[in-house]
Amino acid sequence: MAAKILILGGGSGGLVAANALARTLNGSGEITLIDRNPYHEFMPSYPWVAFGFKEPDQIRRPLKLLEKKGVRVVQDTITEILPSQQTVKTENDSFDYDFLIVSLGATIDENAIENFATEAYHPWTLQGALRLREAIHNFKGGDVVVGIAGQYYRCPPAPFEIAGQLDFLLKAKRLRDQSTITIFHLTPGPLSNMGPAISRVIAEILQSKGVRFEGSFELDRIDKDSKKVIAKDGRELHYDLLIMTPFHKVNPVVAKSELSGPKFPLIDPKTFRSQKFDNVFIIGDVVNPLINLPPAGVVVHFQAEFVADQITAEIKGGYVGESFSPVAMCIMDFGDDAVLPMCEFSKTYIDLSGPPSCGVLGRGKEIRLVKAGFEALWFSLYLTR
Ligand SMILES: Cc1cc2nc3c(=O)[nH]c(=O)nc-3n(C[C@H](O)[C@H](O)[C@H](O)COP(=O)(O)OP(=O)(O)OC[C@H]3O[C@@H](n4cnc5c(N)ncnc54)[C@H](O)[C@@H]3O)c2cc1C
Repeated sequence: MAAKILILGGGSGGLVAANALARTLNGSGEITLIDRNPYHEFMPSYPWVAFGFKEPDQIRRPLKLLEKKGVRVVQDTITEILPSQQTVKTENDSFDYDFLIVSLGATIDENAIENFATEAYHPWTLQGALRLREAIHNFKGGDVVVGIAGQYYRCPPAPFEIAGQLDFLLKAKRLRDQSTITIFHLTPGPLSNMGPAISRVIAEILQSKGVRFEGSFELDRIDKDSKKVIAKDGRELHYDLLIMTPFHKVNPVVAKSELSGPKFPLIDPKTFRSQKFDNVFIIGDVVNPLINLPPAGVVVHFQAEFVADQITAEIKGGYVGESFSPVAMCIMDFGDDAVLPMCEFSKTYIDLSGPPSCGVLGRGKEIRLVKAGFEALWFSLYLTR
């Protein structure tokens, strides 16, 4: 009987894993993917939706397109993962499996910080990107503040890109002279946790755009009456438009499952297998910050391929695939400039023996085209119409 493989989540990790397994198993496994969202959304393009450069249907595709590759797609909300029974429950059904891949991502909580939901805008969801688009449309100039709610959020470089794109857009709208842009972050310098080479380039770009950076700024609260964000050390930033990463928390379905331990969820960081159930793999934003990897699509992409290879090897009896490379890169689009930074996390991940090794692979407007090209490549490889 064909092995049953169940994939939870149709985001970056789930989509890559489903494609890799459909290719390598070639009929010798039954693959089912469950997501509550009927679409796969290409998150790196959310800021482009917010800034009006793309429409929602240009950055998403129906997950059902995977069925052309032999993957069964179920649109439902997962309510319970029961690994000791090899079962997953959804609102409408129940599924058993031989192998389980969990790639349920991080969960956004807009109510975790007082006043966030009404005062702050963000492109960390598609709905959020459309709301930010409306706010930018209504903005008539003033103080713009871009910042982060906490350390854990998808794509660490994205707030810097957003500040840069906003400068570009406000110039085009002839509102830049009447506006200030300030970005606040927990790190002392712009992306200084990625080392001096990247930080220097980002600082130079922000300076050339007149974007002020406030470092080591730990958010204490948002005061909606005075329209200020206030840091724990007392610093205050006035805003007319506030763009902030929402609070990201661990996925509640995984948190309450048997996969979790005192250090949620327990995995072997070399194979991404659950330490308790060796037919369960957990990858992506739901687990990466715990093993000192960033919540980034590139990382989960390599994890998904590696996990699919391990499952294929078990089912087929012998299969040599790719090993896992803890590498992340992000094409940072600043509108009239762009940067391609890359980090290798071998030293941070697993044993924290040293900092990530980072560098700038390229800089220039043309890198923006690479970002657009990558989105097209992503869909043509993984969700072809
Ligand atoms: C603005 C922005 C820019 C980014 N730019 C980059 C970039 O340039 N480079 C990069 O590498 N990464 C980037 N990322 C990050 C990248 O998109 C994520 O790290 C990646 O998508 C994580 O993949 P994942 O599979 O772990 O989770 P996700 O892609 O978040 O997928 C999780 C899926 O699980 C589903 N789900 C969750 N709970 C349930 C449930 N209970 N029932 C059913 N379905 C459920 C969700 O609907 C979702 O489809 C960016 C992210 C954002 C927001």
